[in-house]
Parts: sequence; structure tokens; C-alpha cells
Amino acid sequence: MVDLKGQYENIKERVDSSIMNVIETTAFINGPEVHQFQKELEDYLDVKHVIPCANGTDALQIAMMGLGLKPGDEVITADFTFAATVEVIALLQLTPVLVDVDPINFNIDIEAIKRAITPKTRAIVPVHLFGLVANMDEIMEIAKEHDLYVIEDNAQGIGANYTSKDGSKKKAGTIGHVASTSFFPSKNLGCYGDGGAIFTNDDDLAHIIRGIVNHGMYVRYHHDVVGVNSRLDSIQAAVLRAKLPHLDEYNAARRNAARKYSEAFSGIENIITPTGFCNNIQTICDVCDCHVFHQYTLKIVNVDRDALVNHLNEKGIPCGVYYPIPLHLQKAYRDARYKEEDFVVTNQLIKEVISLPMHTELDEEQIDFITKTVINFVTK
Ligand SMILES: *Cc1c(COP(=O)(O)O)cnc(C)c1O
Repeated sequence: MVDLKGQYENIKERVDSSIMNVIETTAFINGPEVHQFQKELEDYLDVKHVIPCANGTDALQIAMMGLGLKPGDEVITADFTFAATVEVIALLQLTPVLVDVDPINFNIDIEAIKRAITPKTRAIVPVHLFGLVANMDEIMEIAKEHDLYVIEDNAQGIGANYTSKDGSKKKAGTIGHVASTSFFPSKNLGCYGDGGAIFTNDDDLAHIIRGIVNHGMYVRYHHDVVGVNSRLDSIQAAVLRAKLPHLDEYNAARRNAARKYSEAFSGIENIITPTGFCNNIQTICDVCDCHVFHQYTLKIVNVDRDALVNHLNEKGIPCGVYYPIPLHLQKAYRDARYKEEDFVVTNQLIKEVISLPMHTELDEEQIDFITKTVINFVTK
């Protein structure tokens, strides 16, 4: 599904020397590499504050802690995402409110958000699923009207550009009040272990969060709030500094691979290729810079998706089903308030989706082999 080795070969010298430098200077924790990476990511994203932390799940949790959400506060998020999103909501004893997603772009459904709002709602967590930015214009409008926070889960969308109705362009993760991201190795900007970060343009919130990640300390040994220990290792920061200058090129390589996949699949009746609604400008584009293709996810219709998965496995082609079970049906997150008719789209998507190999090193020959194998199976 990913080819981290191939990518490493191309940046080996820089990565190796930066890692050795951390070891030689023994600045393992909060060393200069972490600070430099923070500054460089702030510049890249054009955001005032990046707060590095240990992983993307922590980043989400800390963002919610920083906003001061209280037990019982309702937080609306998508039913069709990785469990980390709902997990941290539940861990903080907030009330997760899962809602359905859009059948075309897989992101949180705007009308479903509106229906889920109650007097207890405090926040919305859009996930830029598979690398496509959610409809942030509409989400920010709803948030403004109901006085809600917006926390972007940007673990899959780093580097994506969002064009608003008014034509202004922003990076994913810099539109809501606060955002989280993950540097898990297979993410679009991945390190060689765990890592994550929180982004915000709010100075006060950034200050609060900087204390939370460091045991609630603002002055050494004075613990003003309950915090956590969540740090990005200096070695991981060194890897990320070597990779950040290539992020746009990496995302372009993903988009290029996505374009080739979609061209090969065009006209095949049983395959629906991923598409992105370019925000509120209602043009549908197959590949543009609001989608950084963390995953390339097809919908397979009128063909047994699981049989296709088995067939690809037999042919030595890796593939994945993200995600096979909707969150509202997971044991840990069931809630008597949920009704199946509120999750029509997610319940359908889990049967149809399949993600093909997607990374920066895919070549023409691989794409050709993969697409031909898929097409032969679904048209037989
Ligand atoms: C990967 C991911 C996370 C969690 O990131 P970790 O660094 O693995 O903790 C959270 N949300 C989404 C949508 C993700 O894809």
C-alpha cells in the first residue's frame, strides 16, 4: 500500500545526517530540530502556531482539552472515519454524536450536522477523509450561527489547499479554530515512528495548549491545569524537516497516480472513481489540489467487493477497506439514540469501498497492472 523504502532512498543523505546530528548533540527531547520543524511547518501552512506532540490521536485530544470542553458537551463528527476521532471525544467524557457522510466525497454531511445540533452541542470535528478537504465554508457557517468550535482532524489532508466561496485559498487545518494532524509513517507527511501536531491561529489557545502538552506547566514546576506528556521526538522532527520541503512534490505524485488510476477506470460501469466537490464552487473535479489522496478509494457496485479484495490479494496487489465497520456499530461507541436510517450512506459505503495502493513511488507499470487486474475482475 505504501513504499516508504523507495521514498527514503531519495532523501537518505539528508535524513541520515540529521538523525546522526541529533544523536551526536544528544538533544533528544525538545531539541533545536523540534523548534525548527515547528517554525518551518508554520511557514508552510501559513498558520500562527504549530504545537508538535506525540501522535495524531493525542493532538485531537489536546485540542479538545485546550478548548475547555466539559463532560456532557456534545461533539459532532463523522460516522465514517478512523476510530481515533471518536475515541478521544469519549475519553474526555464528552458525548460523541456520530452523523452520516456524503456519498460522493465521503466527508461529513452538512445537512446531517444541522439535524444533530442540540443546545448541548459545543463542537464539530470534520475529518478531511482520504485527503479531501471537507466542505469548510458550510461547516464554518453552521459553527458561527450556533457558536460552536470547529476542530479539523487533518491527519489525512496535510498540504491540501481549500478554496473558499470568496476565492481565498487556505491550507487544510488552518480554517477551523484548531486542527490536529498525524505524522504516522504512512501519512502524507510521515516520520519514522509516531508524531503529531496541533495548529491554530488563536494566540490564547496556543498558549493553553503549549502548557497542556507539557504536564500543564506554564512556569517550571507550577502545574496550573491537568496536562499530559505528549512530545515529538527530536529524531522524528529531524526526519520531518528533511521531508517537509518535498511535501508538495509528494502530494503532486499522489495526485498524478490518482489521475492515472481514474483515467484507466473511466467508463467502467461497476467502478465509481473518487471525486472531489471543489468546495462550494460546484464544479466537480476528479483531481485537484483540494485532494491530496492519502487514499485512492473506489466504490465497487454490483460486484462483490470482498471477492475483489481476495482476487487482488491472490495477484499480490495490496488493497485495503477503509473502513469496514461504521463507528456507530462499534461496540465501544454504540448509543441507543442512533437509528439505522440516519446512517444510510455509511452503511452502504462499508460494503462498496476499496482503497488501492497509493504512495509517492507508484510507477506507470504498477498502475497499469493494478488497473488491468481490477478491470478484468469487475467486467468478467
Ligand atoms: C491516523 C489518523 C489519526 C491518528 O493518528 P495517530 O498518529 O496514529 O495517532 C486520527 N484521525 C485520522 C482520521 C487518522 O487517519
